[in-house]
Amino acid sequence: MLVALRSRRHIAPFALHRPDTLAEALALRSAPGPSAFLAGGLDLIDWLKQGNAVDRLIRLDGLPDLATVSDRPDGLRIGAMVRHAGITDSALIRGAVPDLAELWNGIANPRVRFSGTIGGNVMAGRPEYDALPALMALGAEAEVALAPSGGAEVTPIHTIVAGEGGPSTHPSKSAPTQPVMAGDRAREGAEGPPSTALSEPAPQAADANASPVLTDAGRQRIPLDHLAALTQPLVTAFVIPVRAPATLRLFADRSLRPVITVWCGLTLADQLVATLRLAVGMAYPSAVCATMPLDLPLASLGANAADIAAGITRLLPEPVSDGQASAAYRRRMTGVLTRRILVRIGSSA
Ligand SMILES: Cc1cc2nc3c(=O)[nH]c(=O)nc-3n(C[C@H](O)[C@H](O)[C@H](O)COP(=O)(O)OP(=O)(O)OC[C@H]3O[C@@H](n4cnc5c(N)ncnc54)[C@H](O)[C@@H]3O)c2cc1C
Repeated sequence: MLVALRSRRHIAPFALHRPDTLAEALALRSAPGPSAFLAGGLDLIDWLKQGNAVDRLIRLDGLPDLATVSDRPDGLRIGAMVRHAGITDSALIRGAVPDLAELWNGIANPRVRFSGTIGGNVMAGRPEYDALPALMALGAEAEVALAPSGGAEVTPIHTIVAGEGGPSTHPSKSAPTQPVMAGDRAREGAEGPPSTALSEPAPQAADANASPVLTDAGRQRIPLDHLAALTQPLVTAFVIPVRAPATLRLFADRSLRPVITVWCGLTLADQLVATLRLAVGMAYPSAVCATMPLDLPLASLGANAADIAAGITRLLPEPVSDGQASAAYRRRMTGVLTRRILVRIGSSA
């Protein structure tokens, strides 16, 4: 007996668009029929190969300022089309948040780092991806452009701040585990270019100091945990609030993938840790972040690691139980990895 499992299929035809303006991109996305934004295409093409179909793919590489990094008064702006490799290579990121540039050199493999974008990583909505917890730990916000019906009124989903009544919010809406699509109906017989037209890479990121002037569509800044509540958002950038004289540090422990990843972000002022953010990946349908104000010298984090780790992990909601690990194990390891990171920070200060 011969049994064959055919999991890869030909990609159904679709129309490929390359808009020049945000307004055009949003109009294409909100037109009738399933569509998707195309960044590096790693997840999206895979999704199409699984037999899913769209009427339109909307390339984002023709849009202004999506592939640049810029230094602005409100922080460091990283365009959504910046490749993983662009994060490691950016002189601005290396200067403002060197830990992020360093950690991003360990993400995936060179092929993925040169084609995958930070926006695609976040918007793929996969709990095992690293960009969302890393950006959450840095206190970043998303800059989005929305079609008029895009749902600007959103409620927080995953952010928990100590000292504001504890864990006031819980993951109530999980991010999709599939690429975000306007619809997922199977499609037959659409006209459009062959899928091979998708392999052309978008331009590499370039640092730019000029603030973008945008007149073609409104943009707004939202907390990262609001993203999942929006309808068809076009993410244009992420803004990390790093402002001198305060500095940002980022630490991660990814050693227990695929059970859990732990990301710690510190805001420092005069060698005092003002804020600790703990973002946890792979333990929830989407990354979760807890924030705790501190007023401690960096060097004392190690001595206080057990108390701080216990305090901040208490703020987190209950992790999921699945085939990889139980909720109890994940909860315990969140505390262990957080404590280890704090000890490491304290001993290297
Ligand atoms: C072998 C391998 C190893 C990997 N290892 C890691 C790892 O260690 N850590 C990790 O984090 N990731 C890892 N990845 C995942 C990889 O980083 C992602 O696949 C990649 O970042 C997705 O980006 P993309 O630009 O290709 O997204 P695309 O496939 O183009 O898009 C993904 C989804 O996001 C939507 N989208 C894209 N951009 C936007 C935007 N600006 N606004 C709104 N929606 C948008 C698309 O419509 C689609 O639904 C790995 C992948 C592979 C293949």
